[in-house]
Amino acid sequence: MHSKTLAELAAALKNGEFSSEELTKSFLQRIQQHDGDINSYITVDEEHALAQARAADEMIAAGKAGPLTGIPLAQKDIFCTNGIKTSCGSKMLDNFIAPYDATVIEKFNQAGVVMLGKTNMDEFAMGSSNETSYYGGVKNPWNVDTVPGGSSGGSAAAVAARLAPAATGTDTGGSIRQPAALCGVTGLKPSYGRVSRYGMIAFASSLDQAGTFTRSAEDAAMMLQVMAGFDEKDSTSIDHPVDDYVAGLKQDLKGLKIGLPKEYFGEGLQPGVADAVNQAIAEYKKLGAEVVEISLPNSHLSVPAYYVIAPAECSSNLSRFDGVRFGYRCDEPKDLEDLYKRSRGEGFGDEVKRRIMIGTYALSAGYYDAYYLKAQKIRRLISDDFKQAFEKVDVIMGPTTPEVAFKAGEKSGDPVSMYLSDIYTIATNLAGLPGMSVPCGFADNMPVGLQIIGNYFDEARLLNVAHQYQQVTDWHQQVPAAYK
Ligand code: GLN
Repeated sequence: MHSKTLAELAAALKNGEFSSEELTKSFLQRIQQHDGDINSYITVDEEHALAQARAADEMIAAGKAGPLTGIPLAQKDIFCTNGIKTSCGSKMLDNFIAPYDATVIEKFNQAGVVMLGKTNMDEFAMGSSNETSYYGGVKNPWNVDTVPGGSSGGSAAAVAARLAPAATGTDTGGSIRQPAALCGVTGLKPSYGRVSRYGMIAFASSLDQAGTFTRSAEDAAMMLQVMAGFDEKDSTSIDHPVDDYVAGLKQDLKGLKIGLPKEYFGEGLQPGVADAVNQAIAEYKKLGAEVVEISLPNSHLSVPAYYVIAPAECSSNLSRFDGVRFGYRCDEPKDLEDLYKRSRGEGFGDEVKRRIMIGTYALSAGYYDAYYLKAQKIRRLISDDFKQAFEKVDVIMGPTTPEVAFKAGEKSGDPVSMYLSDIYTIATNLAGLPGMSVPCGFADNMPVGLQIIGNYFDEARLLNVAHQYQQVTDWHQQVPAAYK
């Protein structure tokens, strides 16, 4: 059962090959058996999952099933789930039980989806290696000495090890695409505003977007179909029609114009990664696509601009964790100031504190113009680069990451080298564009991801472009030996 795609699982449930309860039990068993090795889940609530599965079986029996009814999924522990712990990977929220569901969770519930559990993540989604979680690091199922990427590393690792058929994630600067690449699964970050952020714990509100980890682009289309749509509870949600993503997977690629930004193939790119990506491009040419060299001249400014804007927004967002309303509270505070200081000092980890301090500094009266305002101007230049590129091409392709999964501990003492893991993904978030990472080969025996960037709300095309490649290659079907 664990080797089937979402489309295959849906068909099997409909034909009565097995029930949702049987399917859910089999995944719960796999989690019990294997998750000790990779630490991809923070919370697994078996009773809750099985109750949802039985309810789904009733929906199926009554002929009321939708495409995902009865399928168990894993949810990143950043989405509020009514009655079940939502930690965001932090000691600060270790005791937090949300009194409501995030819109994404509510949509899955309505669709009859079963929640297997909440996946591990970097604390407050800050990181590229999943080493900053209060619940311990996540390991890459392809080699447990290496990291799965971050911040949605738990979701990526769970899907790669077949401990969930698919999972959600969030991507602020690369946190879906980078771990998808490092774990050899398909990752989709939709356009900013496509999926509601209501009930998704905020890191950097102008960049955060929810998306998917799946075995294939077809599965991503099935999940996005449920997740996408306008939500009046999220003021940044955009009222734009939702395409039929699954029906859109049948277009051939003749005449598709692919832009290759020269800045994504330069210094710092591991040769094995470049080879795999170039082979994928060659495959696209065989499918009838045309390749055009383009330039995104302000690419080198994306990491510096991001590391002003994201910390600035996080310093504001995380001020709500004050030891008063919810989350961690220190023992026996002397007075209010002591309560704030110690609750925040004890509840947040080092990376989160680093970001809050950078953000507070960048927003302070004397430095606002020099840092925050300048970063916002650069952000506009980066979006304009993409706008010009999309006048000439339909999609942009390149590597998702400069290198394959690195060893745990290798970059944790060097924040700047860690931040550079997202050098090819961050610009997309600054511009608000959709992007995917699709498995396209191996280097040093570790998976490589091909990044595909689309124009605003062009998810249907993006998914089809990924799907056509997956019809002629089988990189996305590779499974780490220990989890077959
Ligand atoms: N690695 C980036 C960061 O640490 C991106 C994280 C994310 O996308 N949530 O900010």
